[in-house]
Amino acid sequence: MRDMSARAPDPGVADGRPPSFATALLDPHPAVVSASQRRWLLLGSLAFASCAGSLRWLGQWAGLYGTAAGTAGFAALVFLASVFLIRHVSHVLQRTDAHRERLEADYRRLVEHLPLVVYVDELADNSANIYTSPQVESLLGFTVDEWVRDPELFVKQLHPDDRERVLTEVKRSNESGTPFVTEYRLIAKDGRVVWVRDGWSIYEDAHGQGVHSQGYLLDITRRREAEEELRRLAVTDPLTSLPNRRELIERLRATGADEAPHSLLFLDLDDFKTFNDSLGHRAGDALLVALADRVAACARRDELVVRMGGDEFAILTPSSVQTDLELLAQKLLSAVASPLSLEGRELWATASIGIASGGDAEELLRNADMAMYQAKGSGGNAFAFFSPPLHAAAKRRLGLSADLRRLTLLDELRLAFQPTFDLRAGGVEGLEALLRWQHPELGLVPPGEFVPVAEEYGSIVEIGRWVLHQACRHARQWAGTSGTPAVAVNVSGRQLREPGFVDDVRGALGESGLDPAALRLELTESVLVRADDTVRASIADVCGLGVQLAIDDFGTGHSWIGHLADFQPDLIKVDRSFLAEGNEPLLRGIAALARELGVRVAAEGIERTDQLQLVQRLDYDIGQGFLLGHPLPEAEATALLDRDATVPRTALRLA
Ligand code: C2E
Ligand code: MG
Ligand code: MG
Repeated sequence: MRDMSARAPDPGVADGRPPSFATALLDPHPAVVSASQRRWLLLGSLAFASCAGSLRWLGQWAGLYGTAAGTAGFAALVFLASVFLIRHVSHVLQRTDAHRERLEADYRRLVEHLPLVVYVDELADNSANIYTSPQVESLLGFTVDEWVRDPELFVKQLHPDDRERVLTEVKRSNESGTPFVTEYRLIAKDGRVVWVRDGWSIYEDAHGQGVHSQGYLLDITRRREAEEELRRLAVTDPLTSLPNRRELIERLRATGADEAPHSLLFLDLDDFKTFNDSLGHRAGDALLVALADRVAACARRDELVVRMGGDEFAILTPSSVQTDLELLAQKLLSAVASPLSLEGRELWATASIGIASGGDAEELLRNADMAMYQAKGSGGNAFAFFSPPLHAAAKRRLGLSADLRRLTLLDELRLAFQPTFDLRAGGVEGLEALLRWQHPELGLVPPGEFVPVAEEYGSIVEIGRWVLHQACRHARQWAGTSGTPAVAVNVSGRQLREPGFVDDVRGALGESGLDPAALRLELTESVLVRADDTVRASIADVCGLGVQLAIDDFGTGHSWIGHLADFQPDLIKVDRSFLAEGNEPLLRGIAALARELGVRVAAEGIERTDQLQLVQRLDYDIGQGFLLGHPLPEAEATALLDRDATVPRTALRLA
């Protein structure tokens, strides 16, 4: 299309009528010499040529005979011949004109029936429009007259986002003379946005000289809209209608290119799998939609909220100021954590947020992800900023996750046994089996580090089965040495959701011949809080086998008191943080509650004598801690039991 940047008045419309397409196309200078003028020029030239030839011949003939009568006769003859010739030539020209008009009409019909707008522009700096076909009216709502008359109209109707690009392209093509095809938006008279494909080339004369430019505008709005819709679908999460991960990556790449400061908050719901499993996928989806709305409501206009997939969301913000980021993270945590009513049930969800600033898309995502794990590791419902040491921790974690899937893993695992003591009668009451991983390169890896990774990647199921069998086997050997001490086995939530869990327990008991009453399964309170029907059924079934149930790390989960009555455990093990804090009122309250419910109560983490005295004074049943006994290898645990059998039962009271 034309370049209107330096445009002169349009000579083709000087008489108020736009020129025809054929005129524009066939006549290089339509306004300089008109068709009728050219016709008379041609006639005159022919008449002159024929008269000149006849007179020369007449002159020769008259010179030969030299008679006046002859001269007059021949003059008349010449006149008649001239008239005849002029009439003949005029007739021929008339036929040429008719042919030309027919041709023009054919052209016009053809051009005006094409499903596109055809245009012809001058090939000059101003690119003045010579011809525009009437389809411009259905395309843009402007009549041909309006379109051709206003030299600025094309530039004015160019979409602001495309204007600069299109004008540059047109100018470049005008200068180089190369044809081009481009797509851009025009604003129609009624404000509609119309996508067009503009194909443009130079029409050259027989000598290869550029005469004018010609092109077409094809309406591609529907195709573009369909493409746009497809693109939108490709970058939109269908469940929450939020942009998806792909959109974030594209945006990050664009942001990275201009190196503007930016940060990413990576949000992951805590324990969403449990929600999903217990509520069902439909309710799980509804929960995600509700939380997506809350997360989106926390963001400003210049921030992008995306659903990364599953229970992960991300917020891209242009800020990298720490206090701003903290505020936003806090706002997000509160938004997620406020109670939610779903299908008649009241729910509390929490999230962990990792925050990273700067860097390219890959780096930013990786760093924010690492920081998120840091927040999750601190118990969830928290946020953490990325720092370089986190990088090392995440690398180690990744390495562990790979090593946990090694076939030889079970050969590297050991069990340590930490004694639990009867605080009233004295003596060893039980032994808690605690996992140890003797890693060939990293040395001893504590369970606090690898168990969460094993839970995440599912290897805890196989590891847990191994622990169960080992613990029952050892316990069977100890039975009778000092009464029958209970062997406590920690069970993760993931194991309870495995369909074969109850069979595993039954198998371990059957294989070892251990009395079920001597096996104590420890479930953390957070597992019980989120127990779905599958987990509840598993718990009921294993309890049906006659094994004991203990609630581990009691007091750290949410709304824990309700769960005491729900699961009727044999023992609750009060989390060691309460003893470490010296929170006597709480320790006393829990002991009273346990007594009320007829459940035995244990104090974890007894490290000092004053702590032992406190829990004894508060009438705790069982004690566990480094003061009383560290986790021991199996042989040492056996030796301890042997010794314990010989020690008077009141020994502990003297500690
Ligand atoms: P837990 O079940 O609460 O186990 C008690 C943890 O407290 C053990 O840490 C033990 O060494 C530690 N502990 C005992 N007395 C004291 C004390 O006086 N002071 C201090 N500061 N700590 C004390 P450990 O062995 O590192 O195990 C950590 C956690 O790993 C366990 O906490 C348990 O939740 C998990 N775990 C261990 N073994 C297994 C297993 O076989 N399966 C599963 N699912 N989890 C396991
Ligand atoms: Mg435990
Ligand atoms: Mg514990």
